[in-house]
Amino acid sequence: MRYLKFGTSLTRRCQEQRRLLDLGSRSCFHSDIFPSGTKAFINGAWVESHSGASFAVTNPATGATLASVPNCDVKDAEAAVVSARKAFQTWGFDTTAKERAALLQKWFNILMKRQDELAQILTAEQGKPLAEAKGEIAYGAGFFDWFAGEARRTYGQIVPAPVANRQHFHYREPSGVVAMITPWNFPTAMITRKTGAALAAGCTVVVKPAEDTPLSALALASTAKEAGIPDGVFNVVTAARQNTAAVGKLWCESPDVDVISFTGSTAVGKILLHQSADRVKRVCLELGGNAPLIVFPSADLDKAVAGTMASKFRGSGQTCVCVNRIFVHSSVYDAYLDKLKSAIVKDLKVGDGSQAGITQGPLINELAVKKVSGLVEDARKKGAKVIVGGARHSAGPSFYEPTLLADIKPQMDIANTEIFGPVAAVVKFDSEEQVIKLANNTRMGLAGYFFSQDVAQIFRVARRLEVGMVGVNEGVMSSAEAAFGGVKESGLGREGASQGMDEFTEWKYVCLGGL
Ligand code: ADP
Repeated sequence: MRYLKFGTSLTRRCQEQRRLLDLGSRSCFHSDIFPSGTKAFINGAWVESHSGASFAVTNPATGATLASVPNCDVKDAEAAVVSARKAFQTWGFDTTAKERAALLQKWFNILMKRQDELAQILTAEQGKPLAEAKGEIAYGAGFFDWFAGEARRTYGQIVPAPVANRQHFHYREPSGVVAMITPWNFPTAMITRKTGAALAAGCTVVVKPAEDTPLSALALASTAKEAGIPDGVFNVVTAARQNTAAVGKLWCESPDVDVISFTGSTAVGKILLHQSADRVKRVCLELGGNAPLIVFPSADLDKAVAGTMASKFRGSGQTCVCVNRIFVHSSVYDAYLDKLKSAIVKDLKVGDGSQAGITQGPLINELAVKKVSGLVEDARKKGAKVIVGGARHSAGPSFYEPTLLADIKPQMDIANTEIFGPVAAVVKFDSEEQVIKLANNTRMGLAGYFFSQDVAQIFRVARRLEVGMVGVNEGVMSSAEAAFGGVKESGLGREGASQGMDEFTEWKYVCLGGL
């Protein structure tokens, strides 16, 4: 069988394989995408960890073991850096932007050709519904298409010199080796968003994907090989949680790594920033969010509800740009709650994301369900009204019901925590001034959303929200063309757009004298 096939027989086969305990870098996927099994990818070769250790990857919807992948440690991570450093000498200096663009374009075409197959791998290890997984593959591939273009527009400057016998040039040069540490909520796109820009700039890459979702990263490695990306330019080091901190530290402290690019929790981002300080290393951070969504009196309520649904429940509420705090003006509060309740009941279907019609997959693991459940219980005890949901879902231990809570108050934990689950928590407000204060009353500043038809208010509020990205009458705003990133403790730097190139290039000033 050439492509992955999902369904009962595969699940049963996975369960049988799990009984064998050690899959030894084998997988229950029958796909030409993993020709040598699910191994790490260093210097263009599929390799076991040097220690021979491996760890299991499971399907969060069924609990079945999908594959076993190498549990790499610092020795393997070091080998990946050596390979990326060596490859940088040619990729960074001997290839032209046009050649790098052509390879990125080829990689994009392969991802799109294999979209269904890659989406199935993503859904199996991450849990999101197949339609969303397909969307992520297209969105993720889009960064290769976009940065193939940007590679050729990495313009420098010739600046008039202050004296007659000199010429001043500003070149943009690749930063060098980029180490990426990525999360499980977008196992493909968080790698391609960084890699597209890095490769376009002439950098080479080592990636440590999240331990929950290494298969999508390895599938990217396979497609990189298929596209003809030279050996050592893109390396994937898989590691279980117990080896992760040491791998991260090694890369932060290594003089052979020039940039750390991380997407994940604020707590880990801070660790990486501290660890990189002694090397004065550039650190790009896409961290947590605490996005406000504000519904003003003039809002089109149907649009506001559609925007809330898209932003809140995508990925079962496990995205960093997810709406986290919903503020609704008292004049439209009841009407908004009614409409949101109907949409949740009518549009959301919970279950295994590989099955047709499912819109809400599992959370990434049982621990995530425990956290969400605790937040809901705390809110309920402190007086929140549960309008829909509010309990674990019968589909399995990793599932939680889509939930709508009203009358949220500041003293509830849910009002101050990144929920990362399918819970809409609604707060009533009375004035623009009050809601801006409430929205900005957080150390996070990634995304913010509001719904209003009042043009003056739109400009006022968009400027005053302390976030890196604002959706006005829109619930989903990410694209390859847009600069993604946060302010305050939500991060440093931007990904996507032309700004994405800034993270992986250095300005060099050359002064040509004696003319
Ligand atoms: P989450 O809690 O959502 O898993 P994390 O920030 O813990 O978010 O994980 C994001 C990525 O960071 C993952 O690839 C994870 O393995 C990695 N990671 C976790 N802890 C560390 C650490 N101390 N140093 C380096 N990377 C880490």
